[in-house]
Amino acid sequence: MNILIMGPAGAGKGTMSERIVKEYDIPHISTGDMLRENVRNGTELGKEAKSYMDAGKLVPDGVINAMVEKRLLEPDCQKGYLLDGFPRTLVQAEAFGEIANKIGKPVECVIALEVGFDILVDRITGRRICPNCGAIYHIKGHPSKVEGICDECGGELQQRKDDTVEKLRQRMDEYENSTKPVIDYFDKLGVVERIDAGKPAAEVFEDVKKALSKVA
Ligand code: AMP
Repeated sequence: MNILIMGPAGAGKGTMSERIVKEYDIPHISTGDMLRENVRNGTELGKEAKSYMDAGKLVPDGVINAMVEKRLLEPDCQKGYLLDGFPRTLVQAEAFGEIANKIGKPVECVIALEVGFDILVDRITGRRICPNCGAIYHIKGHPSKVEGICDECGGELQQRKDDTVEKLRQRMDEYENSTKPVIDYFDKLGVVERIDAGKPAAEVFEDVKKALSKVA
């Protein structure tokens, strides 16, 4: 299955992605996670991306497109893919179309998660992530058993630098200006499924599965 998942910061792309890849056995390709790993490892790409990410701005298209192309050419993507957080601009959408054709895996479904701003603020400011294994928590909605410690691997939970209200506003502006047009672009291809993602995760996932069953 060849899937894209889109939505503003805090819409639940990471949480839904964890569930989708378990259910459909496809690789989860998150450009945000790939970039954060590069920043952690101090690679050239990470150094270039860091200032954009800390400011809640988009990393330049050329850097992202090359990174995604390399990843999609890896053999595990022959099973399909779940792309999370890409494409986020029209330039990326066009580059993606070419890469997807090159590997013979055109997108079948674009899951567009929709959530109001107030819910996003609550989710983003309460979000904690494990830098070791990527597990996602929320201080109220989904706390770890021991405060600050990952249930899965014992890692020390962190708050992302860009998970503040101010940065969320910046990321929402980027989303409205750059990414909404990408959803319109895929709408014209007739592959977009809009999902109300303001509900509890279990309910949202049921709707996601329903949407994906149309193409499975
Ligand atoms: P995310 O984890 O998807 O919210 O991404 C975190 C940050 O990484 C974003 O605010 C951007 O700075 C950067 N980023 C992730 N994916 C992309 C992309 N497709 N294009 C440009 N920047 C990206």
